[in-house]
Amino acid sequence: MRSSSHLARARVADPVNGLAGTANQLRGQVNQLRAELISLGIPIRGDVVPQEPPEEEQPVQNGRSCEACRHLKRSCPSICPLRAVFTPQRSDDLVDVDAFYGVRKFISYKEKLPAGNRRLAAEKMVLEARAWNELPGTGIVGLVNILNLQVQSLTRKLNLAKGAS
Ligand SMILES: [Zn+2]
Repeated sequence: MRSSSHLARARVADPVNGLAGTANQLRGQVNQLRAELISLGIPIRGDVVPQEPPEEEQPVQNGRSCEACRHLKRSCPSICPLRAVFTPQRSDDLVDVDAFYGVRKFISYKEKLPAGNRRLAAEKMVLEARAWNELPGTGIVGLVNILNLQVQSLTRKLNLAKGAS
């Protein structure tokens, strides 16, 4: 088992790739398998994370600041890169990100990246923050294990469904 200090160093050195990248990839696979099962009419527990429009297409909603800007007690710019990430439905994610990175740090990590990579990087960081909150003992390593198991079980289910149809 890897030590948590090793992970902490890896996180500082590379806040958006590494294991969070693996977890993100697995999460994508899980979502894809779920979507496929749902399209076959097979009910699945858990949410499919919807494909969200890119940040420039996110309109201001009723002049209301996004969750992240409200957290920082500032007004939301008309094109706020945080609005697409921290939707009202994802206020739990904001809490996790704040606990793990701090919202300001999160923003500054994100801003350092090329514009085209920011959205995905933000999602990876959210995923990592969520993992540390949900699985404090193992964090992202535990999440990767869980996602691997989910991919396996959903693949089995899908193969069964395809065989039966
Ligand atoms: Zn905002």
